[in-house]
Amino acid sequence: MKGASADAPNDLVIRGAHVLDPSSGLDGIGDVRLSAGRVMEIGEDLRGLRHLDADGLHLLPGFVDVHAHWRTPGREDEETIETGSAAAAAGGFARVVMMPNTDPVVDKPVVVSGLVRRVEQESRVRAYVSAALHEGLRGERLTEMRLLKEAGAFCVSDDGLGTRSAGVLRNGMLYARSAGLPVILHCEDHTLAIGVVHDGAAAALAGVPGSPGSAEDVATATALILATETGAKVHITHVSTALSAALVAFFKGRADVTADTTPHHLTLTDELIGKLEGLYRVNPPLRPDHDRLGVGEALTSGILDFVATDHAPHDASEKELPLEEAAPGFLGHETAFAALYTELVQSGDLPLSRLIEVMACAPGRWVGGGTYGIFAGAPADLTLVDLSEEWTVQTDFLVSRSSNSPYLGRKLKGRVKGAVVSGELVYDAIGARFGAA
Ligand SMILES: [Zn+2]
Ligand SMILES: [Zn+2]
Repeated sequence: MKGASADAPNDLVIRGAHVLDPSSGLDGIGDVRLSAGRVMEIGEDLRGLRHLDADGLHLLPGFVDVHAHWRTPGREDEETIETGSAAAAAGGFARVVMMPNTDPVVDKPVVVSGLVRRVEQESRVRAYVSAALHEGLRGERLTEMRLLKEAGAFCVSDDGLGTRSAGVLRNGMLYARSAGLPVILHCEDHTLAIGVVHDGAAAALAGVPGSPGSAEDVATATALILATETGAKVHITHVSTALSAALVAFFKGRADVTADTTPHHLTLTDELIGKLEGLYRVNPPLRPDHDRLGVGEALTSGILDFVATDHAPHDASEKELPLEEAAPGFLGHETAFAALYTELVQSGDLPLSRLIEVMACAPGRWVGGGTYGIFAGAPADLTLVDLSEEWTVQTDFLVSRSSNSPYLGRKLKGRVKGAVVSGELVYDAIGARFGAA
């Protein structure tokens, strides 16, 4: 990783922050000493080569995003590993999984190993490569998953597309299981998903063709049934309907299944279709409020395991179009924490500790395999936030190379002020507050 050097004198004490980590039970003001890329000590009046004053800030486990599109290789005009990882760091994310629907598609070992090398050189955060489940994401021929894993793939996914047939998906799950790779599934039945927004009252009013919620629910049910039968480790991404969340609940304990939803499905609804702007097109589409609430309740109760942003940068030429012609997708990294803190925590719907769990601890366990949090010996991947700061989302502030945020112009509360990866401050909005201890 860029900036992280094993032999640099990186002994650092973060002083005076409110340390909050539900996985370790930490909830109070203290100092945290980092050294050699790890958390060494948590206590009071700690000493180190350098210190960082973090009075008034909260220190959290680094956020983890298992769903991002950094558009590399192929669309570096929209995002690069450098800008995508900088945007992730600015959003407090220390670890990110990169989706494989690039150009070329990440479906061959040489593409995987090339990306792994580039991530080591160019990424500010830890980034994991998802390879494709099928060649060219076409849902026909399976990829050589064992070789992809050897080349460095962390998981497989055909994200961007649903699967063509249950039989093909079943074979994919069986092969992924034998290769020891988790499968991330974008659940969409393309025979039902014939519109560009959610098929409901808002779509009818706007005169825009819609896809029913069943386009997601049918595919989610299929995936969960096959996960149960095959024993594959399956992660259902961007759950956006109340029924899909209920299906996940039914299959928890029957299958090795986890699921996420996105900040935008938790905070926005299909009312935005009324603006008739391509900016608001996303897949799965924004849903009516009863789905937003159902998905939110499932996240609060633990049916949905965590949040992932589906960070999907697009050039203005692909978004400044009518809904029918625009590319689907929103930026996600930089607004995720503030949007969820503002809309769910401040309203009392989601405890702050559960927000930290779903943005950091739970996806951290999914990626890392073990406990993820702030404890002696843990990798020093941390996030600093100011819960009192109010800010308005503006293009000028965005670190991403693109600017297709659905929150543009919105006033949010809670702001990421720093991101630490492997003991190094990779995003610093605190200013020069380093000093000798
Ligand atoms: Zn998707
Ligand atoms: Zn995606």
